Amino acid sequence: MACVSFPYDAPVSQTLFDRASLVTPGGVNSPVRAFRAVGGTPRFMVSGTGPYLTDADGREYVDLVCSWGPMILGHSHPEVIAAVQEAVARGTSFGTPGEGEVALAEEIVARVEPVEQVRLVSSGTEATMSAIRLARGFTGRAKVVKFAGCYHGHVDALLAAAGSGVATFGLPDTPGVTGAQAGDTIVLPYNDLEAVRAAFAAQPGEIACVITEASPGNMGVVPPLDGFNAGLKELCAANGALYISDEVMTGFRTSKAGWYGVDGVRPDLMTFGKVMGGGFPAAAFGGRADVMAHLAPAGPVYQAGTLSGNPVATAAGLAQLRLLDDAAYAKVSAVSAEIRGLVSAALDKEGVAHTVQAASNMFSVFFTDGPVRDYEDAKRQEAFRFTPFFHSMLAQGVYLPPSAFESWFVSTAHDTQAVERIAAALPAAARAASEATA
Ligand code: PLP
Repeated sequence: MACVSFPYDAPVSQTLFDRASLVTPGGVNSPVRAFRAVGGTPRFMVSGTGPYLTDADGREYVDLVCSWGPMILGHSHPEVIAAVQEAVARGTSFGTPGEGEVALAEEIVARVEPVEQVRLVSSGTEATMSAIRLARGFTGRAKVVKFAGCYHGHVDALLAAAGSGVATFGLPDTPGVTGAQAGDTIVLPYNDLEAVRAAFAAQPGEIACVITEASPGNMGVVPPLDGFNAGLKELCAANGALYISDEVMTGFRTSKAGWYGVDGVRPDLMTFGKVMGGGFPAAAFGGRADVMAHLAPAGPVYQAGTLSGNPVATAAGLAQLRLLDDAAYAKVSAVSAEIRGLVSAALDKEGVAHTVQAASNMFSVFFTDGPVRDYEDAKRQEAFRFTPFFHSMLAQGVYLPPSAFESWFVSTAHDTQAVERIAAALPAAARAASEATA
């Protein structure tokens, strides 16, 4: 890693991190929050308003992480907060069915046409784990195809060659996942239909499903090449396997109907999370009614959750989704395009080789000439340039994802003032990136 100095200006965060490290492994409850890839002290945030986060030391940041995607309306949106307060006042969990769950399911079904039925869960990991179990139960087959660099949560069978934190830390795989758990997982290069065709040919009648990020954001943003998702769908259909589109990140973010609204390729099953929870733990999987009918209690494939469809989480998610109309998506797209242009211009000015890749309003910066089409391309970037870039932005009050392998996220709340702050910070950050050495 390049020699980077971290201006030590977060004493309260440091104290909290020291306390946290005594009682929590690595001081965090999700690995990428720990700043391991970029070094320095993770900032402990105490509040968020609109496009801004404030840390425990009282410093304000323009937030380009948005809680890793969910906060598409910005922080503390008054209508979401009001819906949450109203729900909380009625009680926080009943362990029975409730109307909020029905309304959220109806909203999802209305927005995403291939989803005929949906089951609510509490995290994206649960959603993908359950979708895969259902695909195996439905087809009576064991094997699962996934793509290198795609992350589907920390499901044992899906941690092979995963993106996100697994990519950030360069982990080949994870101790604790047994050969038996990973043995039925086939990992293929992303954007390579020939590899998928060959896998089906080599294992006739054995592959239950192909799971892919609808448009990957966990190795940085690497959109599917034209025809890739459609090709997956065709190969699955021809071979009696299910096509599972993981829209935990893209769902309700990249359009009203998520990535399905962009490419129109009809999956058999889909998974959702992040935006649909409005900042609370709510996620879902759904799709073809004949497949979903195999799920308990309608069918034999077991799946359950004490807090599934929690009334506060569903109220937050529903309030957020109802505010996400065409105008909101147009606004997020415009601000995303503006920030992408600013980042690219600043890096060009300093002669830093880079590619900014976007999937609708999601985007990321690779420190390499593009295009980046798969995980191998993504890993070839000069990630050492990201470290000083990140710290320069942080020191100037812009909070980026602390990894070169993550998507940046914006919201409807990112206004002119927030964009101006980003623009003001970029020249020094680009200079720091240009001066970095491996
Ligand atoms: N699938 C995708 C595409 C994701 O990006 C993530 C999380 O980042 C997950 C699944 C897992 O979701 P969660 O962190 O809610 O378990």
